[in-house]
Amino acid sequence: DTDHINSLSHKRTSEEIYNQACKIIPGGVSRNTIFHHPYPHYISHANGCYATDINNIQRLDFGNNMAALIHGHAHPDIVDAVIKQIRKGTAYTMATEAEVLYAQLLCDRTPSFEKIRFVNSGTEAVMAMIKTARAYTGRPKIAKAEGAYHGTYDFAEVSQTANPANWGDINQPNSVPVANGTPQSVLNDVIIFPYNDIEHTLAILDQNASEIACVIIDPVPHRVGLMEGKTNFIEAIYEWTRKNGALLAFDEVVTYRVNYGGAQQNYSVKPDLTALGKIIGGGFPVGAFAGRSDIMKVLDPRESKLLFPHSGTFSANPVSMTAGHTTMKMYNKDAILKLNTLTQKATDQIREAIKIADVPVSITGTGSMFRLHLKPSAPTSYREAYQNCETKTLINEMLDYLFLDEKIMMINTLTCMFSTVMTQKEIDMLSQALLNMFKRFK
Ligand code: PLP
Repeated sequence: DTDHINSLSHKRTSEEIYNQACKIIPGGVSRNTIFHHPYPHYISHANGCYATDINNIQRLDFGNNMAALIHGHAHPDIVDAVIKQIRKGTAYTMATEAEVLYAQLLCDRTPSFEKIRFVNSGTEAVMAMIKTARAYTGRPKIAKAEGAYHGTYDFAEVSQTANPANWGDINQPNSVPVANGTPQSVLNDVIIFPYNDIEHTLAILDQNASEIACVIIDPVPHRVGLMEGKTNFIEAIYEWTRKNGALLAFDEVVTYRVNYGGAQQNYSVKPDLTALGKIIGGGFPVGAFAGRSDIMKVLDPRESKLLFPHSGTFSANPVSMTAGHTTMKMYNKDAILKLNTLTQKATDQIREAIKIADVPVSITGTGSMFRLHLKPSAPTSYREAYQNCETKTLINEMLDYLFLDEKIMMINTLTCMFSTVMTQKEIDMLSQALLNMFKRFK
């Protein structure tokens, strides 16, 4: 096809394109997370589990656009559905049935989703979820876990880069700013707690009991360490919110893939609100927030007292709705079980490789995602999982080795996100590449 021919005859190298990029885009990239030292590699095309760069080098892709592609690249059913929609128009100043049908599908999957609204990214979903909680409770503060990533809304990103020089006492973790110029007023309204540590978390929440609108929990927070939220921790926070008039807000932007109804299906308690994103867009920009009817009422334009006038030019965009709906219909219970079983098999093989190479490496994760840690036993907290400069440098060298020598892409914390188009062949390629890497960096 013409695209492929173009890629083969590509005259410029990634380095040359990057030199131009740096003149007009800060650092040459619009996403700091994809920056690759000394320059990023530019993509030509991708299909299934493989992505090919402009120099025609094909790589096995465990990044899947930062966990956003559950069926890999360019799945034919998604492509067909999207092309059909695009021919009918891509955005309108009118409501679409596509939005309603997709909303129904997601609400039918997850019992806590009584009402849902769509936005354009996970960041926007978390922001809207927080504003909904504030509008409903009339309270300003949020509580979030130390080091947890919830996107780039000012309040949600506080503490995301907490490090030993500034993270404070475990009894009183600091609300660490992320960007120069973060207003003190933002920091004052964000309470930080240590994930999975019931005793300290409850004591910290108690100090702010009457002011907290919501406690945000990612059930498997990847930047914290991709460890699962302990059942008794989630239940304790749920009970605390019941007693103190706050809401339990789940960030399932990444973890919705874990089970048919999201990772929340694995707990006995239900969140009041949930933020979604990534896979539910089928490869297109999307976000959503969902929850209890009485809470989501703050968004209803028919109410005499509209408390949160939410909107968005591209919210519930029909292309994203169509791609998302097609994707999630295919991501049924059988597909989830098959994918999670395959990922389990992969981690079993990698544990074997760790043993053979005799290296101090451990694995965290659940469902179709895992993260490697350069530690002999799996970390149980952000502070344990924290990577100092030396570890980060080593991890970057490992990622480079995988990318350049083994032709395997991972997310930059040594995290893999699996897709349903992967098979035993890809698992074998991954475990062999990691065995080679473990031996080389020993
Ligand atoms: N929440 C979590 C847990 C995430 O991992 C991310 C993105 O990586 C977000 C929210 C923000 O989503 P987006 O990048 O679509 O704004």
